[in-house]
Amino acid sequence: MALICPKCGAENRDAAKFCLKCAHQLVALGPAPAPPEAPASGAASAGPPRAKRPRPASARMPC
Ligand SMILES: [Zn+2]
Repeated sequence: MALICPKCGAENRDAAKFCLKCAHQLVALGPAPAPPEAPASGAASAGPPRAKRPRPASARMPC
């Protein structure tokens, strides 16, 4: 298995993170943290407010 650089087409080792030839990044550097709420451009606030609240049905028992 070899990693083919999408930029220059050079073959790199599977473990290579960067292309040996052009130093193009071949793999993502670790799991990228989820980006914080992107600055709404109007579309987000236009929609109805949908609160994402997981409901622990069995966790809370009504008296
Ligand atoms: Zn390359």
